Amino acid sequence: MNVKRLSKYVIGRVAAGFVMVSVSACSSTPNLTDDFTSVGVRPPSDQCSVDPKSIADAVSLGNIDGRGACGIRNGWQVSAVGGVTFSTPARIRCQMVGATNRWIGKVVQPAARSAFGERVVKLRIAASYACRGRNNKRGAKISEHAFGNALDVSAFTLASGRVVEVEDGWNSGGKDSAFLRQVHGKACGTFTTVLGPKADAAHRNHFHFDLGKHGRSGKGKYCR
Ligand SMILES: [Zn+2]
Repeated sequence: MNVKRLSKYVIGRVAAGFVMVSVSACSSTPNLTDDFTSVGVRPPSDQCSVDPKSIADAVSLGNIDGRGACGIRNGWQVSAVGGVTFSTPARIRCQMVGATNRWIGKVVQPAARSAFGERVVKLRIAASYACRGRNNKRGAKISEHAFGNALDVSAFTLASGRVVEVEDGWNSGGKDSAFLRQVHGKACGTFTTVLGPKADAAHRNHFHFDLGKHGRSGKGKYCR
């Protein structure tokens, strides 16, 4: 090894050592590549057609920068939409606020009127923004939840106080089942991804709704 190459080698070793030190200094942060992959995934835009404040109890969060590819552009903290309260405030991007409002108005309330003769007043929110892979699996593709582009709902509370849970109601065969199958099936007109107990075991107890892009055109739908 000549002097020039040696100095390069030393600098390389020093640089590598520095990187190792800086990584170990924040060792509480898990290795990104072990958590999920964001290869080929484009974050959604921050475009929005409706002002969330006109349809929801919502506070602007601006842009949230998360770990790796995670983050929300034009994010909102939402505690009610279309007169329906959320069990816990959801962090979602602007377009999801409008889509949720449309789904509640066009699908959820008509389905509740037809099945129970009353309206839904509350949604139990199982998840919103979360920096993770799909189905919380390590190494899986990054989830739309990581962009604030998804909402999980596990139960609906009616004005009378009756609670309709996805897990118990889906196969109950009664009114609950009819209602849940309506709000799930017709959600595909509003969201681009709709998952429920029919999809897989991970969704046996909640519905997942998102505005992710599918297919080559980006205009496909995935509803199960
Ligand atoms: Zn989900």
